[in-house]
Amino acid sequence: MNNLIDSLVPDNIKTLKAYKPGKPIEALIKEHGINKAIKVASNENPLGSSPLALEAAARELKKLHIYPDGDSHDLKEVLSAHVGVSTDELIFGAGSDELIDLIVRTFCKPGQDQILTHKYAFISYKLSAQAHNVEFIETAVDEGYQVDLDALLEAITPKTRVIFLANPNNPTGQHIRRPDLERFLSRLPREVILVMDEAYYEYAIDSEGKEYPNSLTYRHETSHPLLITLRTFSKIYGLAGLRVGYAMADCAIVDYINRVRRPFNINRVAQAAAAASLQDSAHVEQSRVIAHQGTRTMVELMTSLGLKAYPSLTNFTLVDLGKPVDSIYRQLLNFGIVVRPLGPWGLPNHLRISVGTSEEIDSVIATLSKVLES
Ligand SMILES: *Cc1c(COP(=O)(O)O)cnc(C)c1O
Repeated sequence: MNNLIDSLVPDNIKTLKAYKPGKPIEALIKEHGINKAIKVASNENPLGSSPLALEAAARELKKLHIYPDGDSHDLKEVLSAHVGVSTDELIFGAGSDELIDLIVRTFCKPGQDQILTHKYAFISYKLSAQAHNVEFIETAVDEGYQVDLDALLEAITPKTRVIFLANPNNPTGQHIRRPDLERFLSRLPREVILVMDEAYYEYAIDSEGKEYPNSLTYRHETSHPLLITLRTFSKIYGLAGLRVGYAMADCAIVDYINRVRRPFNINRVAQAAAAASLQDSAHVEQSRVIAHQGTRTMVELMTSLGLKAYPSLTNFTLVDLGKPVDSIYRQLLNFGIVVRPLGPWGLPNHLRISVGTSEEIDSVIATLSKVLES
């Protein structure tokens, strides 16, 4: 039976590896018979969602028998005013993850076109490319995992359809600086679609405001109309469980993606909660402060343990343990702490650790130190 099924599946699907999410906290508690656990594996917001979002979500629960608005009209209006982009330049996905997949499906010819990014980029790009049988090319990065934009430009061929750049990147936490992005854009061929994935935009934007580029400003300025900006409600807005992300692009690009999109991809609870969370700027500000203090503290403490930790403008830190992390990852699990081992990204010596509450940070670092000594 298995042989028969195998024979029916195309090679690109047969060799596809399913995405492994961070272990859910409920599973950890059950498996290890412990009563408390800390998950710092998925870059979630330790503050939780905005109370306004929770109230809006609760109101929707009385209407679950009715289909959501397939066009997310109200959310689109609110978001349009919030980001200063017209409603026909906006489209929603069940997480920006779905939009990555929709972009590949909408614009790439399987077996013909190429998708280009750099090594250690956000893993969804590779998974979507392979799932749709689109050739996937990765260029090298500089020391410190800084993206080598010249290498990317040199790797462009007539087959290059889409370039994906996460800024800041997950899992390395590194970001592309404004002058570097501007130079890159000025040399980018007009017919290449550039996706700037800004999942951590709200964390990154004002901490080094002059340095971190908001890609929205470049679509018109640099006359690169094929620029798509992705953002999400999963990270700073603390709505990862509801799955809402969005793309901002030329209305013709949005129109094509919209033809491929499933009609009810954003449920009504998600639409209402996302719209409400845009009203809570205090929650966003507080989340940003917690993340900045948290990453700084983690880098300091990990450096004092003799580890190589990388500062970032995000809510997570990349740390190099200098040796394979598998056993350390498992020992941390035994203590009820879930971090992210980066083997699947090709970084077997590295962990990615998200910012938790300050008690969680202390507990994670103390436990890490204990495990490293043992
Ligand atoms: C978390 C993340 C996403 C996807 O988040 P969604 O929950 O699907 O919106 C996209 N890109 C990067 C770089 C991320 O870290």
